[in-house]
Amino acid sequence: MTDFWTEGDPIADTAAPDGPVETRWERRKFSAKLVNPANRRKLTVIVVGTGLAGGSAAATLAEAGYRVKSYCYQDSPRRAHSIAAQGGINAAKNYRNDGDSVYRLFYDTVKGGDFRARESNVYRLAQVSVNIIDQCVAQGVPFAREYGGLLDNRSFGGTQVSRTFYARGQTGQQLLLGAYQALERQIGLGNVEMNSRHEMLELIIVDGKARGIVVRDMVTGEITTEYADAVVLASGGYGNVFFLSTNAKGCNVTASWRAHRKGALFANPCYTQIHPTCIPESGSHQSKLTLMSESLRNDGRVWVPKGQRDTRKAADIPEDERDYYLERIYPSFGNLVPRDIASRAAKNVCDEGRGVGPGGLGVYLDFADAIKRLGRKAVEAKYGNLFEMYQRITGDDPYETPMRIYPAVHYTMGGLWVDYDLQSTIPGLFVVGEANFSDHGANRLGASALMQGLADGYFVLPNTINNYLAAGPFPSLSDNDAPVVEARRQVEDRISKLLSIDGDRTVDSFHRELGHIMWEYCGMERTEEGLTKAIGLIRALKEEFWTRVKVPGKGEELNQNLEKAGRVADFLELGELMCIDALHRRESCGGHFRAESQTPDGEALRHDDEFSYVAAWEYATAEDGKPTLHKEALDFEYVHPSTRSYK
Ligand SMILES: Cc1cc2nc3c(=O)[nH]c(=O)nc-3n(C[C@H](O)[C@H](O)[C@H](O)COP(=O)(O)OP(=O)(O)OC[C@H]3O[C@@H](n4cnc5c(N)ncnc54)[C@H](O)[C@@H]3O)c2cc1C
Repeated sequence: MTDFWTEGDPIADTAAPDGPVETRWERRKFSAKLVNPANRRKLTVIVVGTGLAGGSAAATLAEAGYRVKSYCYQDSPRRAHSIAAQGGINAAKNYRNDGDSVYRLFYDTVKGGDFRARESNVYRLAQVSVNIIDQCVAQGVPFAREYGGLLDNRSFGGTQVSRTFYARGQTGQQLLLGAYQALERQIGLGNVEMNSRHEMLELIIVDGKARGIVVRDMVTGEITTEYADAVVLASGGYGNVFFLSTNAKGCNVTASWRAHRKGALFANPCYTQIHPTCIPESGSHQSKLTLMSESLRNDGRVWVPKGQRDTRKAADIPEDERDYYLERIYPSFGNLVPRDIASRAAKNVCDEGRGVGPGGLGVYLDFADAIKRLGRKAVEAKYGNLFEMYQRITGDDPYETPMRIYPAVHYTMGGLWVDYDLQSTIPGLFVVGEANFSDHGANRLGASALMQGLADGYFVLPNTINNYLAAGPFPSLSDNDAPVVEARRQVEDRISKLLSIDGDRTVDSFHRELGHIMWEYCGMERTEEGLTKAIGLIRALKEEFWTRVKVPGKGEELNQNLEKAGRVADFLELGELMCIDALHRRESCGGHFRAESQTPDGEALRHDDEFSYVAAWEYATAEDGKPTLHKEALDFEYVHPSTRSYK
C-alpha cells in the first residue's frame, strides 16, 4: 500500500498454452471450442471501431457467419484513424533473403519492446504476419513493387533486415481500403449492421458478462442500448491525452475507460511512444502535430551542428561541423535505431543547446546524400507525398533543405489487459488493435501496429472468440432489465451533469492544460518528484473541470462540445492513472524513461529483478480512490533479457 495505489493479487494469462513457442498458437487453435456454421448466425457480436483492427475483425466474423453490429464515430468506417498510417507494415516474408525469419521478427520485437512483452503473443504475431500480406495482396492492396514485379521492402527502426511492406507513404490508407471493402461486402450481404456517427458511452454487463453497449447517435443525440453475445473493442489508442499528438483529433479513450470503470483491468498505461520524426510545434495555436514517417530514416540522415546555439542556415554549416549523432553513438543501427532511443537522443542534443530552429527544439533530417546517390526521381517515388506534406505545412522544400523534426506523442503501448485469446478481465469483452496492451511491451517497433491490428482482426480474434461464443447464445435482454436501465442512466446522468455546469472555461482549455501537465511530467523523461506533482495537478484540474466547464448546446442535437467534454473527462482520469503507473515503475524501459534509473552514459536502465511484469490496474472503487495493482509476471524462455544495445 502506498499513498497512491494498493497492491492486489497477481494475475495470470491462463489462456496461453505452454510448451514449444513455435506450436503454441497451433495448439490453442486446436484446443479452442468451435461453433458450427449453422449456429453462428444465431450469435451476435458488437464491434466498436472500424480501423484496421475493428474493420478486419467485423468483416472476418461476418464472413464466418456471425451477425455483427459495427460502430464508429466517424461519418464513414473508412475514416478511422488507421487511414493516417504512413510508413508500412512488417512481415517475416524474407523476400529480400537478408536473413529474416519468424524467429528474427519475434526476437527483434521482444528486444525492441525492452523485454516487457509476452513471448507467446509476440511469437504468434510474427507467425501470423506472413498471412497478413497474402490476405491483403489477395484483396488488391497496392503494395509497392520492385521493377521485376515482386513486392518491395524497406527497413524500419530496431531491425537490420528489410521486412516492411509499404504503399508509398499511405500504407494505412491502402490497407484500410482493403479491410473496408471486405466490411462493405458483408454490409451489402446484410451480415453487418453498420452504425457510423454513433459513440459508445457505456458497457452493459449482465451476470458478469459483457452483453452490450449504450450508444449516442451523434447527429440526433438519441441514446440507445444495443445487445449482443460478445463485445469487441477496437477503439484505438489514447495518445490524445497529451492534447498535442500525431493522432487524429477524434482519437480518445472513452470506450476503453468505460470498460475499465466497469471492471476491465488497464495494463501498462504509462507506456507511451514518442516518435522522433514529427514536424515541430510552431506555436500555442496548434491543436495537432504531424508525423513524418519513420521510413524517411531509411535515406534521411539525422544531424545537428557540433557547436551550441549555431544559428547559421543548414546549407552554411560545413560537413565537419555537423554531428550525425545517431550514426556516431549507435554505429550498427545508425539512423534506424528504435523510436525510444532516437527520441531521447534528439532531446539530449537539444538540451545541450545544439537544437535547430525556433526555441532550439528541432534536429535536421537531411536527404542531400540520398538525392545525390539515388537521384531526385527515386526519392520522390518513395517519399513524394511526405515531402509534399512537409512543404505544405512548413513552407520549406525538403528536396533543397533538410527537414526539421522533433519528437512527439504518437502511440500508446498500454491498453486494456487481455489474455492470449484477446479477452479482457470481463468475460465476453474482447479487445483488439491499439486499444489492448498485448504485444509491444514498453516500446513498439515501427510498422508493427498495423501488423498487430490486422493480426488481431483477421486471424487471432476469429479463432479465439469461438471458444467463448460456443456457450451462447446467451439469454436475450430487454430495455427494462436492471443492468441495462442502470447503464443507460449512467450515460444520461453524465450528459445532464456536463450540460448543467454552465461554467466559464472551454473543454479545449482543460484538455490543453492536461496535455501540458502530461508532456511536462509524464513525457519523454519522468521523475519521482515530477510525477507526484503531476498527480496533484491533475486531481485539481479534474475538480475544476466538474465545476467550471462550459458545454454549450443541448444533448438532443449534434453537439461537438458535448462529445469532447465526455472524452476530456475520461482523459483526466486516465492521465492520473498514467502518472501513478509511471511513478510505481521505478525503472527505465522503452518509452518510459525514469531519470533516476539510467546508466552512466545516459541509456535506459531496467530493473528486471523488480519490474519484469505487466502492471494491470483495477479501477479505484474504494473510498480512498486508490487503484489496485495486479502484476502479471513475464517469463523469457527464448529471448533472454539483456541490456538493449544498438551500438
Ligand atoms: C500519423 C500516424 C502514422 C502511423 N503510421 C504507422 C505505420 O506506418 N505503420 C504502423 O504499423 N503503424 C502506424 N501508426 C500506428 C497505427 O496507425 C495505429 O496504431 C493503428 O492504425 C490503430 O488501429 P486501430 O484499428 O486499433 O484503431 P483506429 O484506427 O484508431 O480506429 C479506432 C476506431 O474506433 C472507433 N471508436 C473509438 N472510440 C469509439 C467509441 N467510443 N464509440 C464508437 N466508435 C469508437 C473509431 O471511430 C475508429 O473507427 C501510425 C499512427 C499515426 C498516428
